[in-house]
Amino acid sequence: MAGVDDHAVMFGNLNRLTAWARSNSLWPVQFGLACCAIEMMATAASRFDLSRFGAEVMRASPRQADVMIVAGRVCQKMAPVLRELYDLMPEPKWVISMGACASVGGVFNNYAVVQGVDRVVPVDIYVPGCPSSPEGLIEGVMQLQEKIRRGGRPLAPAMPPAGEVARA
Ligand code: SF4
Repeated sequence: MAGVDDHAVMFGNLNRLTAWARSNSLWPVQFGLACCAIEMMATAASRFDLSRFGAEVMRASPRQADVMIVAGRVCQKMAPVLRELYDLMPEPKWVISMGACASVGGVFNNYAVVQGVDRVVPVDIYVPGCPSSPEGLIEGVMQLQEKIRRGGRPLAPAMPPAGEVARA
């Protein structure tokens, strides 16, 4: 481990050690919705290099992911799909809402766009901006890492079925 002497001995309880390991190996599900997704892709590219935080492995299957980055506006038709992907992710799992559209609907204050993805899935971190910047998403990932190390929300709370959410 970088910065730790070869002969050093570390003590800690298992929960904290597990949380530390989880926080440094976040695997986001590959899922972009609109313009903010371009910023999310840039975050994983060489200039911003999300891999420095252990979170660059975007998984094509929700079963291999533990973080959902909702990047862009969520339309009513997409909401049940988003919820299903979330349900397919194994526990523990976390959600980052990236950008004004995902967090509150942004400028799309109309019947077709969900006015906040926290109506569909529980959100851990909100990243502001239109668009959100790669720096903002990295800050969000770091905040999420802190939350996981503190043991925040190990299990997702029960949510209403996706169909009800989409009709709300
Ligand atoms: S917040 Fe702005 S950049 Fe992001 S999806 Fe909405 S309109 Fe596009």
